[in-house]
Amino acid sequence: MADLHTDIRYIHGIGEARAKALARLGIATLQDLISYFPRGYEDRSHTVPIAQLVPGENGCTRAMIAAAPTAHRISGGRSVVKCRAVDDTGVLDLTFFNQEYRKNTLQPGQTYVFYGRVEGNLLRRQMVNPLLEPEGQQQITGRIMPIYSLTAGISQLMMDRAVRQGLDACRELLSDDLPEEVRRQHQLCHSNYAYENIHFPDSPEALSIARRRLAFEELFLLTCAMQQLREYRQDVTGPECHQADLEIFCRQLPFSLTGAQRRAITEAAADMCSSRPMNRLCQGDVGSGKTMVAAGCIWLAAQSGWQSALMAPTEILARQHYQGLGPLLGSLGLRCVLLTGSTRAKERREILAQLASGEVDVCIGTHALLTSDVQYARLGLVVTDEQHRFGVAQRAALGEKGVHPHTLVLSATPIPRTLALIIYGDLDVSVIDELPPGRQKVDTFVVDGSYRTRVQAFIRKQVEAGHQVFIVCPLVGEDDQIPDERKAVTAYARQLQQEVFPDLQIAVLHGKMKPREKEAVMADFVAARTQILVSTTVIEVGVDVPNANAMIVENAERFGLSQLHQLRGRVGRGSVKSYCILMSDHTAQETRERLQVMQRTNDGFKIAEEDLRLRGPGDFFGSRQHGLPAMKIADLSCDMRLLDEAQKAARQLLAGDPELQHHRKLQQRVRQLLQRSAGTLN
Ligand code: ADP
Ligand code: MG
Repeated sequence: MADLHTDIRYIHGIGEARAKALARLGIATLQDLISYFPRGYEDRSHTVPIAQLVPGENGCTRAMIAAAPTAHRISGGRSVVKCRAVDDTGVLDLTFFNQEYRKNTLQPGQTYVFYGRVEGNLLRRQMVNPLLEPEGQQQITGRIMPIYSLTAGISQLMMDRAVRQGLDACRELLSDDLPEEVRRQHQLCHSNYAYENIHFPDSPEALSIARRRLAFEELFLLTCAMQQLREYRQDVTGPECHQADLEIFCRQLPFSLTGAQRRAITEAAADMCSSRPMNRLCQGDVGSGKTMVAAGCIWLAAQSGWQSALMAPTEILARQHYQGLGPLLGSLGLRCVLLTGSTRAKERREILAQLASGEVDVCIGTHALLTSDVQYARLGLVVTDEQHRFGVAQRAALGEKGVHPHTLVLSATPIPRTLALIIYGDLDVSVIDELPPGRQKVDTFVVDGSYRTRVQAFIRKQVEAGHQVFIVCPLVGEDDQIPDERKAVTAYARQLQQEVFPDLQIAVLHGKMKPREKEAVMADFVAARTQILVSTTVIEVGVDVPNANAMIVENAERFGLSQLHQLRGRVGRGSVKSYCILMSDHTAQETRERLQVMQRTNDGFKIAEEDLRLRGPGDFFGSRQHGLPAMKIADLSCDMRLLDEAQKAARQLLAGDPELQHHRKLQQRVRQLLQRSAGTLN
């Protein structure tokens, strides 16, 4: 046996076909296999007498077949086998659908162990399609069983066996990567024990000991990785800027900067004027004016002759930045261009030439800005707006070209402090905790469908007063089907047009539209040629239409609170009174409570914390788009104490051995983690 990187095909008992199926679960090596942790467990370790089986719960019992099973056919060509099992305390009726062979295999007088959901009542207990095995030959009962996420071609039992083979195969190989002293100090079990018991726990206590060890290890490695990223940055030289008089910049603005904006720019300027590349996150609630912080940095970079790239997540947003910043930066003597996926070939060539020659100071666009054919003469600063992250991979790609620009990430996702430690461990953070003056609170209401007519009358009133309205309609699909975004939104808008507002201009915006179509729709809305914009969450990010003063969200229960907060942030940007109406027919207490948080507060941080508390980090971060590294086992909503311990331990170790020279195995694991997570870690 070679090592943990051995292809699972070569593991005794797995083979070619099974390896292929396992590959679909991302399992290629022995290490992958044993790190494929169960998603849950079923305790089948103890049997109880029939009389103690609780209807409505899963139970495990030992009982004898009392009489020969009977079989018959029912509608739809299905078969039913029925029989009765007994012990000293009672009777258990058994029903098997489509398992005709049971008729011949269940032997009267034989004792079996049954596991399944108990149905019926206290007088007459029943199990439908239970798991069963003859007593004394137990494989799937008599222990705590791991439950794995599966894929076609792999059953629980196959997975169970494969993991067993895997663990047996690496018994000799599994060394402990955590230093002995860390293990002892934090009372963590050995990794052999941990891997064995995370899959096949001897007892609930053993499971929790195993889990704690593995979660600690995960958080410990992550902390080490973050620290090392920071170290790497210390080794390279950034584009050096010299201090410039910020007042020159400020004089061109139509307003004066808020204290928080000023502070953020000053912090960034200090980074940019040091010899190291800046890696700063500027975090501020929607509407707090983050764009001006970016503008300030871009201006500062230009004073030292550096070019800047500003990346937005969508074309709409890129264009809006271009239209907003272009004139401002222009008045300061900077040349700006817009470069997106829909820039025509000829124009694109010209822009590329200008960037390469250094004629252009600022390039605004989508992530296309950093593809390999875009060459900058002197790229000094990369700003990414909203969730778009400038990941390790991109930084490395630029680094290879010998460029280590300053980076500034703007984010409106308020990250609770505890999580920020993990996600932004490598970033310096500036918080904009102050809104520009004169902002009004957006009045928020949570209503159900019975208010629909009133809401429509309200929309009409706003439009008649010269305002505009957003309506966000989520993708409502049947069961698991992926709904057709275009259809859902278009149908909704058509109905609204025909039945409610035949006289108003209604526009539709969804993610499937071509960039040019989207732009045209947005341009019409910005120019108030349309009054109602029906859209999916594509407008969630950043779009600024000060004349729009109402945001209606249909099926609001489908959105996370932070997402709703982002949506609400689309209104209340001008001086007029603004409203947000959250529609939901969900009556569940939990849903109502969650939505009412929106009614109570306008504070993005409070909302994020509430979201985290109510839904856990998985949901909070959606599809990992906010850069939370994928955690195999640590659960950030409840492992905070452990996180704290792991972080302290990691820092302590790194203080004595920053490069992990004396902890080679750990060093290797950290490198692997950095490579694997290149896209998600910052
Ligand atoms: P966000 O932080 O959500 O990206 P923006 O940068 O888009 O916010 O700013 C929101 C609006 O506030 C814009 O219309 C912008 O011009 C305006 N704004 C920004 N800073 C100030 C300020 N200091 N005083 C007044 N208005 C401001
Ligand atoms: Mg913005």
